[in-house]
Amino acid sequence: MHPIRLSATTALALIMQCATPAVVAAAPAGAPVVVDRNCADGDFVLTVEDFREPSQFPGIQDLINSYQSASYLSFIDGVLARRYPTGKRIIDIAGGKPAVDRWLWSKNTASQVLGQLSTVVHEVGHGIDKSVPENRYFVARSKSGADVVFTAPGMHGKGTTSNSPKYSMARSLLLADLDNRKRPPAQRGTITTSKEFGSGSHGSDRDYAETYLNGDPANTKFESGDQGFNMLVEEWTQYINSMAVTYYLSSGGTTRTSDRHALLTHLWWIERYLAKIRVEQPDQYSYLIASAPWRQTVLSLWGRSWRYLTSTLPGMEPDSGQVTELARQPHLLDEIQRLRAGHGCDNPVELFP
Ligand SMILES: [Zn+2]
Repeated sequence: MHPIRLSATTALALIMQCATPAVVAAAPAGAPVVVDRNCADGDFVLTVEDFREPSQFPGIQDLINSYQSASYLSFIDGVLARRYPTGKRIIDIAGGKPAVDRWLWSKNTASQVLGQLSTVVHEVGHGIDKSVPENRYFVARSKSGADVVFTAPGMHGKGTTSNSPKYSMARSLLLADLDNRKRPPAQRGTITTSKEFGSGSHGSDRDYAETYLNGDPANTKFESGDQGFNMLVEEWTQYINSMAVTYYLSSGGTTRTSDRHALLTHLWWIERYLAKIRVEQPDQYSYLIASAPWRQTVLSLWGRSWRYLTSTLPGMEPDSGQVTELARQPHLLDEIQRLRAGHGCDNPVELFP
């Protein structure tokens, strides 16, 4: 009831005392953001990504109408230059025709070629990243035309190389975390480590698990799941390309591919991998979070992923709703927020509200 009179100096000091802890406490208290417009993930989307909405897609019907199988390469160049310059740049870096010929199986019609472009860019993208010994990730051709490439050291799987500044957990061990029980990824074939199945529905991610999480890290046989964080990120990088090509070639309502599902599955795996090593392999986690190149790489890929995932085109993906929910669980989004905090970001604001 008594008015409190403060000098201007005292009032300012009180405001500053109150304001400082409030800002620090804001991140863990509120619901975690998916993409933070104030950190590297949002910054990549806002300043680097050359993104277009469907209404802005340049026409390619003239290229389709004049398609000739003998000139499939110039057709691909033309389509990608107009719709997805990052994909054209990947093929150019790889040397063009020989790289494309490894992955393009049918070229009788324009439709056949368009149907394979997502896979072609994905595989050729692997090729350019793996053409150097470092962990190199070609992420995008930027708005300015410059290449966006990240190189991050270490985090190889044991047994994948004889020399790494820091080895990282075999990715097959993702099958043994608690989140795996929410969507058992494989019950049919050759997976040897997955003894942790719970109940729940099955989706196409069992196929991805068989491809990427297969194998027992304790045996001497090399299997795909023996690979570590560096290759999990490499696969993620290329599934973003797959999703982007499918997005940019979509005519709306007719495209049904697994690209959205694959990308969401990788986001879910990345979050779980961060959570698992933070608790069980603190030396690996400390190495990762102390590395500016790794933080930049993961956060940029994270923002880029959601740029495409939040721009929906009808029919693009059956059965991705559950994986979307799984990737957006607050306890897993917190793992991305921890990376942001390590990157000096303390004021998260949702970019895609
Ligand atoms: Zn791949």
